[in-house]
Amino acid sequence: MRIGCPKEIKNHEYRVGLTPESAAELVAHGHDVVMEHGAGLGIGAQDADYLAAGATVADVETVFATADIIVKVKEPQAVERKRLRAGQTLYTYLHLAPDAPQTVDLMASGATCIAYETVTSPFGGLPLLKPMSQVAGRMAVQAGAHTLEKAQGGRGVLLGGVPGVAPAKVVVIGGGVVGRNAAVMAVGMGADVTILDRSNEALESIDTQFGGRVKTLYSSKTALADVITTADLIIGAVLIPGAAAPKLVTREMLKTMQAGAVLVDVAIDQGGCFETSRATTHADPIYIEEGIVHYCVANMPGGVARTSTYALNNATLPHLLKLADKGVKDALLSDPHLLEGLNVAHGKVTCKPVADVQGLEY
Ligand code: NAD
Repeated sequence: MRIGCPKEIKNHEYRVGLTPESAAELVAHGHDVVMEHGAGLGIGAQDADYLAAGATVADVETVFATADIIVKVKEPQAVERKRLRAGQTLYTYLHLAPDAPQTVDLMASGATCIAYETVTSPFGGLPLLKPMSQVAGRMAVQAGAHTLEKAQGGRGVLLGGVPGVAPAKVVVIGGGVVGRNAAVMAVGMGADVTILDRSNEALESIDTQFGGRVKTLYSSKTALADVITTADLIIGAVLIPGAAAPKLVTREMLKTMQAGAVLVDVAIDQGGCFETSRATTHADPIYIEEGIVHYCVANMPGGVARTSTYALNNATLPHLLKLADKGVKDALLSDPHLLEGLNVAHGKVTCKPVADVQGLEY
């Protein structure tokens, strides 16, 4: 099979669908890999690295015109959608539910479209979304620690303290993938960490995972209102699948917090879990409301494009190898979890939640 990987063209997207190592793996399985010129530059991978891996390098028209499978990171932009064709397979993040224009174009293209975000795993969860949550959770602490510095408007508190001075108090709301990865970093930096969740199972397993080094609290309104008054850094990491994030910290509640405390709202891509959150960018990540510093970057993994690309490839490559080795149809039919990723085929939407939201035939 011929696998094509174009350069990402969405604003400020530096990740790439294939690392040189992934390209080499595909080549070792007997496939052709064609990369667009400069596709890997955002992660520091030169065309020469891909050539050394056995891939070829070409212009974008050639990549789209000759590849059987197109591998990307972000949803195809309008100009890319026009290049897709029947008989071709697209393998990337799509997030079709809120995006009717993209859905219509993908249906019209005749391409087979597999969305990373709906592929499932026999162990539960969404394995191709997980690596980005791991990155965002770990990065939330790094961003929060920096934002706590005076020059950023923060309280001037060092996360780990020093001998004789207490560490910062870090509160993580939501103990899923993002929350636990945030806790790993915060504990590693020596902070005093508390995680709140509504799931008793999650609280139990966090307690076991951290051997008591992290405090756990059931996420009631009272517990949250109490714990935020002394927090230095609060990380919003809740998710209610298929719904907007609940507004757990209101503007009024900010007035009870310490001036210069920091909120990092990782759930901003679902609308945010603080009433005062609004999406920001890596170029201008923070703003202050009621004396509290907000960091609400909607695409946190993009800021560490190299780590994110390698983490994403670790999760996407095994399925890609299966698609290329077996052929797309046989690979999908032999793996119900990969089949869950199929969003568009033969001009129709094949993912029920997307069809339902958009009132389309399923
Ligand atoms: P997850 O499903 O693994 O964890 C979410 C947790 O929130 C669950 O344990 C759930 O029980 C808990 N929860 C739900 N309601 C709660 C409440 N009222 N109080 C406390 N806990 C509550 O999800 P995840 O992968 O950790 O993702 C968390 C959020 O981060 C999602 O909104 C996701 O979209 C977002 N995210 C953002 C970025 C970014 O760049 N900003 C990147 C990755 C993920």
